[in-house]
Amino acid sequence: MFDCIIRNGSIVNGAGAPSFTADIAITDGVISLIVRGLDGAGRNEIDATGLVVAPGFIDIHSHSDLSLFFDSHTESKIRQGVTTEVVGQCGVTSAPVRARHKAALLRQFETSNFTIAAADKEAWNWPSQMAYLNDLVEKGVSSNLIPLVGGVPLRIASAGMNVALTSQELVRVKELLNEELHAGAWGLSSGLYYIPESHFQREELIELCKVVREHNAIWAVHMRDEGQGLFAAVDEVIDIAHRSRVSLQISHLKLEGKSNWGRAADLLARIDRARAEGVDVHWDQYPYTAYGSGLIDAIPPAWRAQGVDQVLGRLSNKQFSDSLKQAMLRGTEIWRSPLEEIQIEEIIVTEVKNDLGYIGKTIGELAATWQRQPVDAIIKLLTTQEGSVKVVVPAMSEQDVEVIMKHPATMISSDGMAVSPQGHYAYLHPHPRYYGAFPRVLGRYVREKGILDLNDAIRKMTSLPASRLGLKDRGMIAEGQAADIVIFNPQTVIDHATFQQPCQFPQGIEYVLVNGDVVIKEGEHTGRYPGRLLKRQ
Ligand SMILES: [Zn+2]
Repeated sequence: MFDCIIRNGSIVNGAGAPSFTADIAITDGVISLIVRGLDGAGRNEIDATGLVVAPGFIDIHSHSDLSLFFDSHTESKIRQGVTTEVVGQCGVTSAPVRARHKAALLRQFETSNFTIAAADKEAWNWPSQMAYLNDLVEKGVSSNLIPLVGGVPLRIASAGMNVALTSQELVRVKELLNEELHAGAWGLSSGLYYIPESHFQREELIELCKVVREHNAIWAVHMRDEGQGLFAAVDEVIDIAHRSRVSLQISHLKLEGKSNWGRAADLLARIDRARAEGVDVHWDQYPYTAYGSGLIDAIPPAWRAQGVDQVLGRLSNKQFSDSLKQAMLRGTEIWRSPLEEIQIEEIIVTEVKNDLGYIGKTIGELAATWQRQPVDAIIKLLTTQEGSVKVVVPAMSEQDVEVIMKHPATMISSDGMAVSPQGHYAYLHPHPRYYGAFPRVLGRYVREKGILDLNDAIRKMTSLPASRLGLKDRGMIAEGQAADIVIFNPQTVIDHATFQQPCQFPQGIEYVLVNGDVVIKEGEHTGRYPGRLLKRQ
């Protein structure tokens, strides 16, 4: 007797091979047999006639470590077929926390990432990212978690919000990084676009990447610039990878702003040249033409180097606020504004600190209501929400998205958190990628537009990220692999989350198994939470 048998599915193995029809038996959470016309019975039997059976998707760029603390039973990822999430991205992880710099860390979270209730602040003391994630998984999670450690808490724990690191502080950052990698983290993530990691010098990053390299782990990086300075930013991370010999994962590769549109092939050619020269570079992509970020990015980083409160506190001075507006719209001598090359009116507010009524509105709508210019609406939002405003910004071209997607080395990611339309996240109006990224690739880019072939799309979601990570027992349908499996209808699978109505589960994802346990059955969550914390060996 097997624990589970999946019969008559069209098996897409994850390696890009042609599909074939067979039955799959599962024993103790592992795929134990793949054969046509399987004899014997399973305690649980799934009829997959007419459906595709694929390895569970590996979301190589996820922020669910941040949301699962507030609601461990959120469903937006598992319902996409994601069975493993590589969490702790863009430099932002909840730990390590050191008492001396805890207040600075929590303030940093509030302005850039999420708000934390007073009682939670009290309890926010995890000595390591692994300790934090252990607590999450103990409460029960749907998908497996693969942890990275973020440069933000490493840096703040070592040096607070200091702009420059002393050599002693850099040593401390490296020690903390080393501890996390020893404990089982799969790599370091950096968010070089954001304070305080924007203060990292290239030579310091090379030092950190050498530590990562010693552990054969990866460096996932949100680069310094994805807009007008994109190509220079790519050159920088390639140089760091070249000189440290680290395994580089460029996060959410894209071309922001109109002056970059049409240059995706140039960008990829640049990266391919480095690969041909032996630099270990990979990247991931989410399938949308808008990015998500903090509205605070519109204020020049140099002006908020000591914290955003300093800027907001001076706005009553008209001369100050006029020159701030000028900088936000036109940039400064040393900084290009992200507002310069986009339609400011189209920015959508997705999260705020105080006035939930603003959520889901565009800057254009708020400006009209308040009878102000769009830039004044942005300042009013930042002031009333104490700097804590998240937004979705339309900035990329569809053609570039498709060119990047087609490259054989591109992996699919969500760059989103697991959330739900009910419970803690009911108020949220997130980027639709939180709910739809993977089914969107299968429905829109495979079936409707023919940009990718199905087997290749699945490869980009499974064996490619697994091999990148050195994850040997997941990412394929093969005997001996962990039974992380998604079963979907290739005729109907599609995302339903839109920029206007993002909290919509996708269609066509019929069954999802994690470690052999059925978590999604006929499109509904079964209340099972078999996700594990996977440690690098
Ligand atoms: Zn990022």
